[in-house]
Amino acid sequence: MLRLAALGLFHESNSFCPTPTDLPACELIGILRGEQIRAVHGDADSTMAGLLAAGGPDVAVVPLLYCGPQPAGPITVEAFDAIVEEMIAALADGAWDGVLLALHGAAVADAHPDADGEIASRVRAAVGPDVPIGVACDLHGNVSARLAGAVDVIVSYRTNPHVDARVRAQELGGLVARAARGRIRPREAWRPVPILLNILRQNTDDEPMRSILDAAEQVRRRPGVLTASVLQGFPYADVPHVGMSVLVTTDDDEALAASYADELADEVWRRREAMRGDALPIGDALDAVGAGATPVLLLDVGDNIGAGTTGRSAAILATALERGFTGLLSLVVAPEMVARCARAYAGAGPGAEVEVTLGEPETGPVVSVLGTVRRLHDGVFEDPTPTHAGYRHFNVGPTAVLDLAGGTTLILVSHAIMQSSRQQLRCLELDPGAYRAITAKGVQSPLAGYGPVVARVLRVDTPGQATADLSSLPYRHRRRPLWPLDPGI
Ligand SMILES: [Zn+2]
Repeated sequence: MLRLAALGLFHESNSFCPTPTDLPACELIGILRGEQIRAVHGDADSTMAGLLAAGGPDVAVVPLLYCGPQPAGPITVEAFDAIVEEMIAALADGAWDGVLLALHGAAVADAHPDADGEIASRVRAAVGPDVPIGVACDLHGNVSARLAGAVDVIVSYRTNPHVDARVRAQELGGLVARAARGRIRPREAWRPVPILLNILRQNTDDEPMRSILDAAEQVRRRPGVLTASVLQGFPYADVPHVGMSVLVTTDDDEALAASYADELADEVWRRREAMRGDALPIGDALDAVGAGATPVLLLDVGDNIGAGTTGRSAAILATALERGFTGLLSLVVAPEMVARCARAYAGAGPGAEVEVTLGEPETGPVVSVLGTVRRLHDGVFEDPTPTHAGYRHFNVGPTAVLDLAGGTTLILVSHAIMQSSRQQLRCLELDPGAYRAITAKGVQSPLAGYGPVVARVLRVDTPGQATADLSSLPYRHRRRPLWPLDPGI
């Protein structure tokens, strides 16, 4: 019986987001230990679910510790040390034939710009050079030389929106189990590609990603190749290793892995002109709603919670109010205003009148509006249907539904949690078909959940810490040159 340890700290860190990922943020989502991990992820479609599913009659996957806080600012020293030290202590407590790591690949910690590389290096030091270590990571990983060098094999998602987290992690688990039995000897070649891929060109059903991933599939089918990944990278991490990368792993053939990785990296580079962003100004997007079938999903690109923003922007709402746009359903993170609604509701019940102030001055307009409270909710819901990255259990915290004049409804929530499940509307008894437009604070993450109930999707060029205009971000640590920001590359 093989014994494989499964553990991870899974975080996408936005260097430009002012909200730190501290211990309370980690505890909010849960620092899961042992069988708690199986209870939460066993029936999900997440990375950890896939690692657990890699077990079988002769392979025991032992869950040790897992934490996947919501994307936000970098991980604080206190949170990183507490979680990673506990991970390493749990590893040191057992004897392992292999290690399965669930790492996002774009984690930044205050003391460790390459947080994933740091974790992988500590895990390597804990188990020694001979125990195979595999990493199942997100398509947005900014894979560094250090991360690639510390482990035997990395497998990333191949879909964006991410709907293959579980199968990719299971694939990774299978490779580590075969390596642990000595049936294969993974040899991995890593190639950084100096590109910041605009978030608007990351959908894997569209070009250029579709052709790039097809090329990776061709490589995977060749004799001797164990796996191959093309990572999109996460442009909002201000670190030296930010950007795209390619990984090819062969069975005991370094030269072959190197040659195929070069080939794939060339393919990515060749297609860069198709990677520039495009999005509609807010006013143009609202105009476009009136010109066709509804409801329309308006993607709030700049305040993309999945990319680690605060979720507090009211930019689309402000323009809609200014223009007298009717029939908008819009979610905004505003815990103080939820509390205000709750107080009004406690006094007057459904229909209580309340004025709320929404938005954040750092990134966009601030608006004050008068509305009536329709209902309150605890913000806890479960979604058994496909969602981005396979999440099933959600807790957006205390929630208020507020009706404004003109058939506009606001969902005010307390926590910045990815807006990826339409179950949220169902549990608030909101009918998406009753609205002309629905905003979602994401680019890819809302599509799997909301796609089936909207007529069209428009990407809106909104302000925020995840702006589509990468040239406006105050990078200080990224490597240079990087396409498309630096001239002459
Ligand atoms: Zn991702």
